[in-house]
Amino acid sequence: MQVLKFGGTSVNDAKAIAQVAAIAADQLKTDPNVVVVTSAMRGVTDLLINSAKAAASGDRQRYRDARSTLVTRHRDAAEVLIPDLDDLARVQELTDERIREFERLCMAVAILGELTDRGLAVISGLGERLLAPILAAAIRARGLKAEFVDAGELIVTDDNHASAAPDMDATRAATRGRLLPLLEAGVMPVVTGFVAATPSGVPTVLGRGGSDYSAAILGAALDADEIQIWTDVDGVLTADPRIVKEARTLSELTYSEAAELAYFGAKVLHPKTMLPAIDLGITISVRNTFNPGFAGTRIVAQAVNVGTVKALTVIRGLALITVAGRGMMGVPGIAARTFAAVAAQGANVLMISQASSEQSICFVLPEPDASHVVAALESAFAGEIHRRLIDRVTLEPEVVIVAVVGEGMRGTPGIAAKLFGALGEKQLNVIAVAQGSSEANISLVLAAADADAAVRYMHTAFGLAG
Ligand code: ADP
Ligand code: ASP
Ligand code: MG
Repeated sequence: MQVLKFGGTSVNDAKAIAQVAAIAADQLKTDPNVVVVTSAMRGVTDLLINSAKAAASGDRQRYRDARSTLVTRHRDAAEVLIPDLDDLARVQELTDERIREFERLCMAVAILGELTDRGLAVISGLGERLLAPILAAAIRARGLKAEFVDAGELIVTDDNHASAAPDMDATRAATRGRLLPLLEAGVMPVVTGFVAATPSGVPTVLGRGGSDYSAAILGAALDADEIQIWTDVDGVLTADPRIVKEARTLSELTYSEAAELAYFGAKVLHPKTMLPAIDLGITISVRNTFNPGFAGTRIVAQAVNVGTVKALTVIRGLALITVAGRGMMGVPGIAARTFAAVAAQGANVLMISQASSEQSICFVLPEPDASHVVAALESAFAGEIHRRLIDRVTLEPEVVIVAVVGEGMRGTPGIAAKLFGALGEKQLNVIAVAQGSSEANISLVLAAADADAAVRYMHTAFGLAG
């Protein structure tokens, strides 16, 4: 059993979709059970979300313009891909129906002047629902049996609509009940990524970039042998190829390395993708739709080639907040109160660092949350600030986290020295540092303007280009 997931670039137009159909057909030669999971066409999810948000603020033109883009892109692709006129007519009818739904939803949002998470989840998931029937027909056009399946029938989640969590038991039952009979009948299911539904059938989505997670959830539910993530690069690379031109494919990674890389910004995989695979030991491979002969990256429990530093990643758009004061030393509960105040603002902390002198605590969070978190801290510590136990709460905007990842760093001396040596030589200032106790990751906070230079320089310093 193989689950093949294709990302937005892989289904961007008729030519790419034809390539995807060829890869799926090819896989069927070696494995009778193939399930395909697809994203929306590239840019479509953004278009849907932006239209819905504009509608909420009274702008109706935006969704009318989006409507024509959606019609053109999907109908044009279908026309090229589906030679059977009856099949084409059926698919075009589905496309039109979905786009009418999009318009009606945006109109409702505009009338209400409000966009709820629930409404946004319905609208943002339409891209996958538009694309999957076209891809299924493109596979049928190769003489194979394939059928579009809405993941709302398979993946059962809670009602956190924008970033829903699956109920694996319910999902396993629903997925097997719906997909196994299809597979037994020799039909390839073509499933929408990203989308899911609550037990009562209300649509949800799994968070941006969540189609990778969809594939992993379905792979686990089906006890698949492999989950294949097909994208637009040659696998997981030593760094983002948009920053480092000479970045190289990592042939093998462990689940925890891949999870660290994804969490710290390697967009190639959604951070939760590894979770369903770990328990069952399902191999995840990351491959290039436009270079299908290349093996790409295999993600497994234990990698053969351990190495030390494997890859570098960047998370942008962050701010660093510091709570500092000589009077903090030895005062119990400062950290607890700090993070309680942060949590009350609903902000997500990405990294924490405290020096052993206890004179300051600093942490990194997404920039949009920063100013209200500072205000909340100033009010939480008003007494201590007044008594001069805490000198200040400071905000440093426009920072990034650069993460250095590799399980082999554990117990290997000298990595940090090399890191700081490399950055010091280039006069790149490190604002804060944290190392997880797993030692599989060292995170550095740098000024945003230094990020790309730092990544390029460290990539060379650690010999990652090979
Ligand atoms: P898809 O649409 O297939 O899901 P994404 O755009 O979500 O594709 O992810 C693939 C992109 O991730 C690549 O084009 C690449 O620019 C970016 N990327 C960032 N870091 C890495 C990395 N370490 N290895 C590979 N790709 C990376
Ligand atoms: N289409 C969704 C997004 O853009 C999910 C995905 O591509 O994985 O976020
Ligand atoms: Mg993606």
